[in-house]
Amino acid sequence: MTSPELELTHCIEFSSAHRLHDPALTDAENAKLYGPCNNLNGHGHTYRLEVTVRGCVPRSGMIIDLNVLRVIMHEEVFDHVDHKHLDKDVAFLAGRISTAENLALAFWERLAPPIEKRGGGQLVRVRVYEGSDSFVDCFGV
Ligand SMILES: [Zn+2]
Repeated sequence: MTSPELELTHCIEFSSAHRLHDPALTDAENAKLYGPCNNLNGHGHTYRLEVTVRGCVPRSGMIIDLNVLRVIMHEEVFDHVDHKHLDKDVAFLAGRISTAENLALAFWERLAPPIEKRGGGQLVRVRVYEGSDSFVDCFGV
C-alpha cells in the first residue's frame, strides 16, 4: 500500500552582510532603485532558510532522514554564507544581486541535486526569510 504524499520541512538560520548593487547601473540609479540597501559598506540580516521535501512515507517512516537533510543544508548553504558578506565571500553568488529572490534561486540549484541523490523525497520548496517579516518562496528552477 502506498502512503499519501507528505511534506517535511527543515529550517536553519544564518547571519550575513550584503549590498544590493547592480554594476550595470550608475551609483545614482542604484541609490534610487535600492535605497538604503545600496549602502556602500553593506548591511546585515538574519536569514532563515526553510527547505521542504515531499514524498510518500516508506517503511522507515522517513521521507528523508532529517540528519541527512540538515547536513546537506549546512554543506551546501550554511557553511558558505553564515557570518559572510554575500557579495564578496560567496563564490556561488558571484554575478547575482543578493536579493532574497536570487538567494532562493541559488540555494535551490545547490540543494536539489544532493537531496535527489542522497534523500528519497523531492525538493518542492525553498523559502528564504530576510529578517522576520518577509520571505520568498522558490518552487523550482
Ligand atoms: Zn538587505
